[in-house]
Amino acid sequence: MGIGQDALEELVTANRILAREGVVDAFGHVSIRHPGRPDRFLMSRARAPECIEPDDLLEYGIDGTPVDAAGRPSYSERFIHAGVYEARPEVRAVVHHHSPSVIPFGVTATRLRPVLHMCASMGSDIPTWDSRTSFGDTNLLVTNLAMARDLAAALGPRPVALMRGHGAVVAGPSLREAVFNAVYLELNADLQMKAHALGPVTFLSDGEVQACLRTRAAYTFERAWERWCRRAGRPYDERPMEGPLTRV
Ligand code: MN
Repeated sequence: MGIGQDALEELVTANRILAREGVVDAFGHVSIRHPGRPDRFLMSRARAPECIEPDDLLEYGIDGTPVDAAGRPSYSERFIHAGVYEARPEVRAVVHHHSPSVIPFGVTATRLRPVLHMCASMGSDIPTWDSRTSFGDTNLLVTNLAMARDLAAALGPRPVALMRGHGAVVAGPSLREAVFNAVYLELNADLQMKAHALGPVTFLSDGEVQACLRTRAAYTFERAWERWCRRAGRPYDERPMEGPLTRV
Protein backbone atom coordinates (compact mmCIF):
# COMPACT_ATOMS: atom_id res chain seq x y z
CA MET A 1 0.00 0.00 0.00
CA GLY A 2 2.96 2.30 0.50
CA ILE A 3 1.64 3.84 3.68
CA GLY A 4 2.92 3.59 7.22
CA GLN A 5 1.71 1.05 9.73
CA ASP A 6 0.80 3.95 12.02
CA ALA A 7 -1.83 5.19 9.59
CA LEU A 8 -3.32 1.72 9.33
CA GLU A 9 -3.42 1.32 13.11
CA GLU A 10 -5.06 4.76 13.37
CA LEU A 11 -7.81 3.68 10.99
CA VAL A 12 -8.35 0.48 12.97
CA THR A 13 -8.63 2.61 16.12
CA ALA A 14 -11.20 4.86 14.43
CA ASN A 15 -13.31 1.80 13.60
CA ARG A 16 -13.15 0.52 17.17
CA ILE A 17 -13.98 3.94 18.65
CA LEU A 18 -17.02 4.45 16.43
CA ALA A 19 -18.27 1.00 17.44
CA ARG A 20 -17.57 1.54 21.13
CA GLU A 21 -19.32 4.91 21.16
CA GLY A 22 -22.44 3.57 19.45
CA VAL A 23 -22.10 5.46 16.18
CA VAL A 24 -21.81 2.26 14.13
CA ASP A 25 -23.01 -1.24 14.93
CA ALA A 26 -22.43 -4.16 12.58
CA PHE A 27 -22.86 -1.63 9.78
CA GLY A 28 -21.33 1.71 8.88
CA HIS A 29 -17.74 2.42 7.91
CA VAL A 30 -14.87 4.91 8.09
CA SER A 31 -12.14 5.66 5.57
CA ILE A 32 -9.08 7.87 5.13
CA ARG A 33 -7.69 9.38 1.97
CA HIS A 34 -4.42 7.65 1.04
CA PRO A 35 -1.64 9.78 2.61
CA GLY A 36 0.55 9.57 -0.50
CA ARG A 37 -2.01 9.06 -3.25
CA PRO A 38 -4.86 11.60 -3.11
CA ASP A 39 -6.71 9.66 -5.81
CA ARG A 40 -7.07 6.67 -3.52
CA PHE A 41 -8.58 5.91 -0.13
CA LEU A 42 -8.26 3.22 2.51
CA MET A 43 -11.09 1.33 4.14
CA SER A 44 -11.78 -2.08 5.60
CA ARG A 45 -13.11 -5.03 3.67
CA ALA A 46 -16.79 -5.69 4.39
CA ARG A 47 -16.72 -6.42 8.11
CA ALA A 48 -18.26 -5.03 11.32
CA PRO A 49 -16.11 -2.10 12.53
CA GLU A 50 -15.70 -3.64 15.98
CA CYS A 51 -13.92 -6.65 14.46
CA ILE A 52 -11.53 -4.87 12.10
CA GLU A 53 -7.77 -5.58 12.14
CA PRO A 54 -5.01 -3.92 10.09
CA ASP A 55 -4.99 -6.82 7.63
CA ASP A 56 -8.61 -6.05 6.75
CA LEU A 57 -7.77 -2.63 5.30
CA LEU A 58 -7.95 -2.31 1.53
CA GLU A 59 -6.97 0.37 -0.94
CA TYR A 60 -9.57 1.85 -3.28
CA GLY A 61 -9.42 4.04 -6.36
CA ILE A 62 -11.31 7.33 -6.31
CA ASP A 63 -14.11 5.58 -8.26
CA GLY A 64 -14.57 3.00 -5.47
CA THR A 65 -12.83 0.15 -7.27
CA PRO A 66 -10.59 -1.93 -4.98
CA VAL A 67 -6.95 -1.86 -6.10
CA ASP A 68 -6.26 -5.42 -4.98
CA ALA A 69 -9.00 -6.97 -2.88
CA ALA A 70 -7.52 -10.47 -3.19
CA GLY A 71 -10.99 -11.95 -3.30
CA ARG A 72 -12.21 -10.19 -0.19
CA PRO A 73 -15.65 -8.55 -0.41
CA SER A 74 -15.99 -4.77 -0.17
CA TYR A 75 -18.70 -2.70 1.47
CA SER A 76 -21.44 -2.19 -1.10
CA GLU A 77 -21.62 1.47 -0.02
CA ARG A 78 -17.91 2.22 -0.55
CA PHE A 79 -19.07 4.67 -3.25
CA ILE A 80 -20.20 7.10 -0.55
CA HIS A 81 -16.53 7.60 0.32
CA ALA A 82 -15.45 7.76 -3.32
CA GLY A 83 -18.02 10.44 -4.09
CA VAL A 84 -16.95 12.66 -1.20
CA TYR A 85 -13.21 12.33 -1.89
CA GLU A 86 -13.83 13.12 -5.55
CA ALA A 87 -15.86 16.24 -4.78
CA ARG A 88 -13.85 17.53 -1.81
CA PRO A 89 -10.06 17.61 -2.27
CA GLU A 90 -9.51 18.89 1.28
CA VAL A 91 -11.37 15.98 2.92
CA ARG A 92 -9.08 13.38 4.44
CA ALA A 93 -11.57 11.18 6.28
CA VAL A 94 -15.18 10.08 5.78
CA VAL A 95 -17.58 8.30 8.14
CA HIS A 96 -20.86 6.75 7.04
CA HIS A 97 -23.17 5.55 9.78
CA HIS A 98 -26.74 4.77 10.79
CA SER A 99 -26.36 6.34 14.23
CA PRO A 100 -29.78 5.78 15.86
CA SER A 101 -30.65 9.22 17.26
CA VAL A 102 -29.85 10.86 13.93
CA ILE A 103 -32.41 8.85 11.95
CA PRO A 104 -35.55 10.73 13.13
CA PHE A 105 -34.14 13.99 11.78
CA GLY A 106 -33.78 12.46 8.33
CA VAL A 107 -37.43 11.42 8.13
CA THR A 108 -39.16 14.51 9.55
CA ALA A 109 -39.19 18.22 8.79
CA THR A 110 -37.42 18.92 12.09
CA ARG A 111 -33.89 20.08 11.31
CA LEU A 112 -30.90 18.83 13.26
CA ARG A 113 -29.16 21.87 14.75
CA PRO A 114 -26.54 22.38 17.48
CA VAL A 115 -27.93 22.46 21.02
CA LEU A 116 -24.56 21.99 22.74
CA HIS A 117 -21.31 23.91 22.23
CA MET A 118 -19.38 20.66 21.77
CA CYS A 119 -21.55 19.92 18.75
CA ALA A 120 -21.00 23.24 16.97
CA SER A 121 -18.71 21.62 14.43
CA MET A 122 -21.64 19.95 12.68
CA GLY A 123 -22.64 23.45 11.54
CA SER A 124 -25.99 25.21 11.52
CA ASP A 125 -27.06 23.98 8.12
CA ILE A 126 -27.35 20.20 7.86
CA PRO A 127 -29.02 19.08 4.63
CA THR A 128 -30.99 15.86 4.20
CA TRP A 129 -30.35 13.89 1.02
CA ASP A 130 -33.31 11.86 -0.20
CA SER A 131 -32.27 9.09 -2.60
CA ARG A 132 -35.81 8.89 -3.97
CA THR A 133 -35.66 12.40 -5.42
CA SER A 134 -33.29 11.37 -8.21
CA PHE A 135 -33.32 7.58 -8.10
CA GLY A 136 -36.89 6.59 -7.22
CA ASP A 137 -37.68 3.57 -5.10
CA THR A 138 -34.44 1.80 -4.18
CA ASN A 139 -33.26 -0.26 -1.20
CA LEU A 140 -31.74 3.10 -0.06
CA LEU A 141 -28.16 1.84 -0.31
CA VAL A 142 -25.64 4.01 -2.16
CA THR A 143 -24.21 1.31 -4.40
CA ASN A 144 -22.92 3.24 -7.39
CA LEU A 145 -21.03 6.40 -8.23
CA ALA A 146 -24.06 8.20 -9.66
CA MET A 147 -25.86 8.01 -6.33
CA ALA A 148 -22.68 8.89 -4.46
CA ARG A 149 -22.13 12.00 -6.58
CA ASP A 150 -25.69 13.09 -5.95
CA LEU A 151 -25.14 12.65 -2.22
CA ALA A 152 -21.83 14.55 -2.37
CA ALA A 153 -23.57 17.40 -4.19
CA ALA A 154 -26.15 17.59 -1.38
CA LEU A 155 -23.34 17.60 1.18
CA GLY A 156 -21.63 20.45 -0.65
CA PRO A 157 -18.88 22.10 1.42
CA ARG A 158 -20.47 21.04 4.72
CA PRO A 159 -19.17 18.53 7.30
CA VAL A 160 -22.43 16.58 7.63
CA ALA A 161 -25.39 15.47 5.53
CA LEU A 162 -28.25 13.24 6.63
CA MET A 163 -29.62 10.48 4.40
CA ARG A 164 -33.39 10.02 4.56
CA GLY A 165 -34.40 6.65 6.02
CA HIS A 166 -30.78 5.56 6.18
CA GLY A 167 -28.17 7.51 8.16
CA ALA A 168 -25.57 10.19 7.62
CA VAL A 169 -22.23 11.01 6.06
CA VAL A 170 -19.55 12.97 7.94
CA ALA A 171 -16.52 14.44 6.17
CA GLY A 172 -13.49 15.95 7.88
CA PRO A 173 -10.03 17.39 7.25
CA SER A 174 -8.58 14.74 9.58
CA LEU A 175 -9.61 11.32 10.82
CA ARG A 176 -9.78 12.43 14.43
CA GLU A 177 -12.00 15.39 13.59
CA ALA A 178 -14.36 13.28 11.46
CA VAL A 179 -14.71 10.73 14.26
CA PHE A 180 -15.23 13.55 16.77
CA ASN A 181 -18.03 15.01 14.67
CA ALA A 182 -19.67 11.63 14.15
CA VAL A 183 -19.73 10.91 17.90
CA TYR A 184 -21.02 14.35 18.83
CA LEU A 185 -23.61 14.29 16.05
CA GLU A 186 -25.24 11.30 17.75
CA LEU A 187 -25.11 13.09 21.12
CA ASN A 188 -26.62 16.29 19.73
CA ALA A 189 -29.44 14.38 18.06
CA ASP A 190 -30.26 12.62 21.33
CA LEU A 191 -30.14 15.86 23.33
CA GLN A 192 -32.18 17.79 20.78
CA MET A 193 -35.02 15.25 20.98
CA LYS A 194 -34.95 15.40 24.79
CA ALA A 195 -34.95 19.21 24.78
CA HIS A 196 -37.78 19.30 22.25
CA ALA A 197 -39.89 17.09 24.54
CA LEU A 198 -39.57 19.73 27.26
CA GLY A 199 -40.54 22.70 25.13
CA PRO A 200 -39.32 25.14 22.50
CA VAL A 201 -35.58 24.81 21.94
CA THR A 202 -33.05 27.65 21.84
CA PHE A 203 -30.30 26.50 19.49
CA LEU A 204 -26.79 27.87 19.25
CA SER A 205 -26.90 30.94 17.03
CA ASP A 206 -24.86 31.06 13.84
CA GLY A 207 -22.53 33.53 15.57
CA GLU A 208 -22.07 31.17 18.51
CA VAL A 209 -21.31 28.29 16.18
CA GLN A 210 -18.66 30.37 14.42
CA ALA A 211 -17.19 31.49 17.76
CA CYS A 212 -16.97 27.85 18.91
CA LEU A 213 -15.16 26.89 15.71
CA ARG A 214 -12.73 29.79 15.97
CA THR A 215 -11.65 28.93 19.50
CA ARG A 216 -11.51 25.16 19.18
CA ALA A 217 -7.97 23.83 19.21
CA ALA A 218 -6.47 20.52 18.10
CA TYR A 219 -6.30 19.78 21.81
CA THR A 220 -10.07 19.32 21.80
CA PHE A 221 -9.81 16.38 19.43
CA GLU A 222 -6.77 14.93 21.20
CA ARG A 223 -8.43 14.99 24.60
CA ALA A 224 -11.47 13.17 23.23
CA TRP A 225 -9.37 10.75 21.17
CA GLU A 226 -7.26 9.69 24.15
CA ARG A 227 -10.36 8.89 26.19
CA TRP A 228 -12.04 7.04 23.34
CA CYS A 229 -8.87 5.00 22.75
CA ARG A 230 -8.95 3.97 26.40
CA ARG A 231 -12.60 2.96 26.19
CA ALA A 232 -12.03 1.05 22.96
CA GLY A 233 -8.99 -0.80 24.34
CA ARG A 234 -6.68 0.72 21.72
CA PRO A 235 -3.27 2.39 22.25
CA TYR A 236 -3.27 6.19 22.13
CA ASP A 237 -0.83 7.63 19.61
CA GLU A 238 -0.11 11.13 20.84
CA ARG A 239 1.13 12.35 17.49
CA PRO A 240 -1.61 13.57 15.19
CA MET A 241 -1.32 11.48 12.04
CA GLU A 242 -2.35 14.07 9.52
CA GLY A 243 -0.44 17.22 10.34
CA PRO A 244 -2.04 20.32 11.81
CA LEU A 245 -5.69 19.80 12.57
CA THR A 246 -7.74 22.35 10.73
CA ARG A 247 -11.35 23.33 10.99
CA VAL A 248 -14.19 22.56 8.63
MN1 MN B 1 -25.53 2.69 5.02
